[in-house]
Amino acid sequence: MKSWPTPFVPEVPGVGEPLRLHDTSRGAVVPVGAGEVARIYVCGITPYDATHLGHAATYVTFDLVQRALRDAGHRVEYVQNVTDVDDPLLERAARDGRDWRELATSEIDLFREDMTALSVIPPDAYRGVVESMDEIRLAVRRLLDSGAAYRVPLPEGEGDGNDVYLDLARTPDFGDVSRWTREQMLDVFAERGGDPDREGKRDALDPLLWRGARAGEPSWEDEVLGSGRPGWHIECTAISLEHLGHPIDIQGGGSDLVFPHHEMSAVQADALTGDDVFARLYVHQGMVGYEGEKMSKSKGNLVLVSKLRADGVDPMAIRLVLLAQHYRTDWEYTDSLLAQAQTRLDRWRSALSTNGGADPTATIAAVRAAVADDLSTPRALEAVDAWCDETLAGASGEDPAAPGLLARTLDAVLGVRL
Ligand code: ZN
Repeated sequence: MKSWPTPFVPEVPGVGEPLRLHDTSRGAVVPVGAGEVARIYVCGITPYDATHLGHAATYVTFDLVQRALRDAGHRVEYVQNVTDVDDPLLERAARDGRDWRELATSEIDLFREDMTALSVIPPDAYRGVVESMDEIRLAVRRLLDSGAAYRVPLPEGEGDGNDVYLDLARTPDFGDVSRWTREQMLDVFAERGGDPDREGKRDALDPLLWRGARAGEPSWEDEVLGSGRPGWHIECTAISLEHLGHPIDIQGGGSDLVFPHHEMSAVQADALTGDDVFARLYVHQGMVGYEGEKMSKSKGNLVLVSKLRADGVDPMAIRLVLLAQHYRTDWEYTDSLLAQAQTRLDRWRSALSTNGGADPTATIAAVRAAVADDLSTPRALEAVDAWCDETLAGASGEDPAAPGLLARTLDAVLGVRL
């Protein structure tokens, strides 16, 4: 699937510090420890509604991860999926009387525009489910062959085929990603796309791998599985294994994906590869709220990036709103945060448009150090603020190269174009 144009990333003298990130599975900040090539898989959108600030926060966070790894001398291989066939998309299309493919295409187009405006480096492979159907089908077949998966006949009156589920009793690593109790898992499983009450499952938490064809739903032929379409989690397992191999360095996404999505993706990969490590680190973006609740399609309290852009908001101000928060902390969007970010952006632009400024060496080091320390972007922004204060006060040096050098650093490391 077509992604979006790669933004220009300036060269900056020197090398960034080794990146450390919080790993959910260990509950600690640890060195990423990638080799020459860092492999990252980040879960993409289900394209049934426009990009809101919660999505933007996730993709800007992993953009920062990419930039920090590059700055520290790694080459990055980055893969992102698009869930371009799944229940929420089909339900929204049916509700609005639209063709699901046309709905997906138009929302993916909007997402690409938002990512370009926010200066997000695109993935090397941007893969939809529909175009990945072969590798997904083969993954499900292999799980059936090995006995890690089982069939459940369709309920009476829904067709002649079968669904296929993973048998969690066969996956000893289950629970290692989230470290949740079974009670915690059962609490959210249904609201996050699971089907704990489906008759015939061996365990209420067993995830759906292949949904047998139902009338009125899109389906793909498979001579072994029967006609149907993939479950949600197996798409990411199959796409990641196909394009990045295993283990990968980082599996990323919003914190609402910890369970079941990342837990299931990981155990499915383990069952396919025999390796008990799917990803070395699981990195999760906190949730963004608005007007007292988590920003979500179901609540209808979305702040859309495209709407802000249409209202004339500078995308770099949106980016600065996001960078002013620490990625792991849940936070709530307000108009005043946007106003503060715009003020900061204006001030940075003024300071960086001067004919000379304070020596930026320590500021550049501080920005790099803050980002390398579990993406401590609020600290990085404060370091830049301090340089701008000094430069605008005109009291501390007239280095003519300083504004340009710092501007290139902010562009390369923070993705803020000035
Ligand atoms: Zn995923």
